[in-house]
Amino acid sequence: MVIVMKANAADSHIRHVVSRIEAAGLSTCLSRGQGRILIGIVGDRRLIAALPVEVFPGVERVLPVTDSYKLASRQFRSEDTVIDTGGVEIGGGNLVVMAGPCAVESRAQLLEAAEIAREGGAQFLRGGAFKPRTSPYSFQGLERQGLEYLAEAREATGLKIVTEVVDVTSVAMVAEYADVLQIGARNMQNFRLLQAAGQAGKPVLLKRGIAATISEWLHAAEYILSEGNYKVALCERGIRTFEDYTRNTLDLSAVVAVKKLSHLPVIVDPSHGTGRRELVCPMAMAAVAAGADGLMVEMHPKPSEALSDGSQSLDPDQYRELMAAVSSLAAFLRQAM
Ligand code: PEP
Ligand code: MN
Repeated sequence: MVIVMKANAADSHIRHVVSRIEAAGLSTCLSRGQGRILIGIVGDRRLIAALPVEVFPGVERVLPVTDSYKLASRQFRSEDTVIDTGGVEIGGGNLVVMAGPCAVESRAQLLEAAEIAREGGAQFLRGGAFKPRTSPYSFQGLERQGLEYLAEAREATGLKIVTEVVDVTSVAMVAEYADVLQIGARNMQNFRLLQAAGQAGKPVLLKRGIAATISEWLHAAEYILSEGNYKVALCERGIRTFEDYTRNTLDLSAVVAVKKLSHLPVIVDPSHGTGRRELVCPMAMAAVAAGADGLMVEMHPKPSEALSDGSQSLDPDQYRELMAAVSSLAAFLRQAM
């Protein structure tokens, strides 16, 4: 349920409403919509129904939140969420780029990739230290050593670090090093992991599951939000369809749909979304045109030597071309809209 306060509601009215709700054992979330303060209430439905919120001073009206994901819903919060990741914001009109190799393979590879990512204008370095691989015989990641290299690369370049956490037991370790915890497509409905990532308090990038509907994806985000962690960004990375020319089918309509249904920022990953490096730049531009808040792209100093996802990784020149194309498109769109 969302309480719409009157345009002239005093601060004391807002404080009174919040304290009455919290005294009933419920939690609140304040936002601003059309010049008014909105107070979202979450918690047990019976406790909410028992509160006489309509008659509290300063209240204009009370709206039900009909979506079954509540905290993720635009009905609950009309403003776009902007996530502060410690100096770099995700959402709110800045196009962020997260670039780097699929996996952290060695110190030299990662530091070289980080330097290329920084020079090209990315704000985040990506790279998995824990890799969820289809085959148990494929490279599984350098684990803590990989996280150490990521931290060193952050020191060297100033880039923020986004890296994947694959299970509950490693959340604390990954959160020690990462600026943003990535939850991968295969783990989108690992509800215990979502809760643990929510409790870790770090911003979370939640990738869309390989066969997840938009509704399932938003419900997965709700698991993180309901732990009191509102720093959640969604990442469209393609879904499994009958098409096998591409690795996945990048669902750009989901960017537009999710931004209507939810206030959370949406990042697009055209690397996993297509699986083919020649499609990455055009689909990155299409994602920006569709209103994405950012991009995640795989880039490797030598893609032919990559231990994972080489065929979808850009080489340094292709990465620089993508950055130039995307930043001029973003500038054009800003002045055209
Ligand atoms: C990745 O980003 O390297 C990755 C494994 O992505 P996804 O979970 O989208 O497959
Ligand atoms: Mn990858």
